[in-house]
Amino acid sequence: MRVAVVGAGLAGLGAAYFLLKKGFSVTIFDENGVGGGASGIPVGLCHPYVGRSGKPSKFSDEALFLTKKLLDDAEKTVNKRLADRSGILRVDWTPFEWYPDLKKVEEGVLISSGMTVFINEYVHALFASLKGVEFIQKKISSAADLEEFDQIVFAMGFGMKEFDLPVNFVKGQVLIGTTDKFLDKTLMKAKGHLSPIGEKRVQLGSTYEHHFLSDKPDMEIAKKELKEKLLAFFAREGEFFIDSVWAGVRVCVKEGYLPIVQKCSQKAFIFTGLGSRGLLYHAYYGRHLADLIG
Ligand SMILES: Cc1cc2nc3c(=O)[nH]c(=O)nc-3n(C[C@H](O)[C@H](O)[C@H](O)COP(=O)(O)OP(=O)(O)OC[C@H]3O[C@@H](n4cnc5c(N)ncnc54)[C@H](O)[C@@H]3O)c2cc1C
Repeated sequence: MRVAVVGAGLAGLGAAYFLLKKGFSVTIFDENGVGGGASGIPVGLCHPYVGRSGKPSKFSDEALFLTKKLLDDAEKTVNKRLADRSGILRVDWTPFEWYPDLKKVEEGVLISSGMTVFINEYVHALFASLKGVEFIQKKISSAADLEEFDQIVFAMGFGMKEFDLPVNFVKGQVLIGTTDKFLDKTLMKAKGHLSPIGEKRVQLGSTYEHHFLSDKPDMEIAKKELKEKLLAFFAREGEFFIDSVWAGVRVCVKEGYLPIVQKCSQKAFIFTGLGSRGLLYHAYYGRHLADLIG
């Protein structure tokens, strides 16, 4: 069976991984190349406690297990470390005794199962690990463009705006810059995060913009929206030098927080709505989608 996957972000690649395991022939289409959408941010946080209430996400244990499996395969393929697995430090959060993998440490609470994934590098490595997949850089305008395929998976991120789905589009921006402050793992405070991305370089994020005119990066808006978070980490001027900004659009489901995987016609499926949990759920729901197809 020939399956076309439209979108080479976490959703499309997660689906392609498990479709290949089933022995299907898979062709991925993306107009912007691998990681050309929201999955192209420098780093992403992956941990089970993503809800505002601090409760673990549904299916999070198995989802995290599967994400680690894909991450391991990607790392083996490129022979490079693509995540920091030393946990995520949270300083103002849920009591640690609520959950088994939270550890009380001097500075706050350590989410010991949390990882900081170099998401942009990860999606490229995950793609490289997909042996036998065909990739075509092309914009797909409708299912009619893909008539020769037996099944189609639409996993187009912000491109899903053409579909009538119960989702909101929320723009996110992160600031990238340098600091002399030592940071060995992701630190979360004041609803913001500061993550190391290399020698003295950090990512600070992120914005949640519900009304936006363009999906492209906008430094002025990013700085304004992130001012409070910036001050939570860097109280004094000169502690952080911003050099760039990155933007993407999250597809967030209106009800609940679990992604949308559904059949939308005789031979087409939708995989979207990963919201801020793309890393946690792309493998789990990618496998679910592959199971639905065959
Ligand atoms: C600033 C920011 C911070 C985030 N932080 C985190 C985090 O810490 N942890 C986490 O888990 N998640 C995080 N997320 C969310 C995560 O990035 C998303 O959940 C995930 O990337 C969504 O993947 P996707 O494949 O659905 O969409 P995308 O990555 O957007 O992929 C869709 C792809 O489809 C392509 N496409 C669209 N239309 C067409 C078309 N017509 N034809 C061909 N190709 C098309 C696009 O070019 C794109 O490459 C963050 C997002 C943002 C923006």
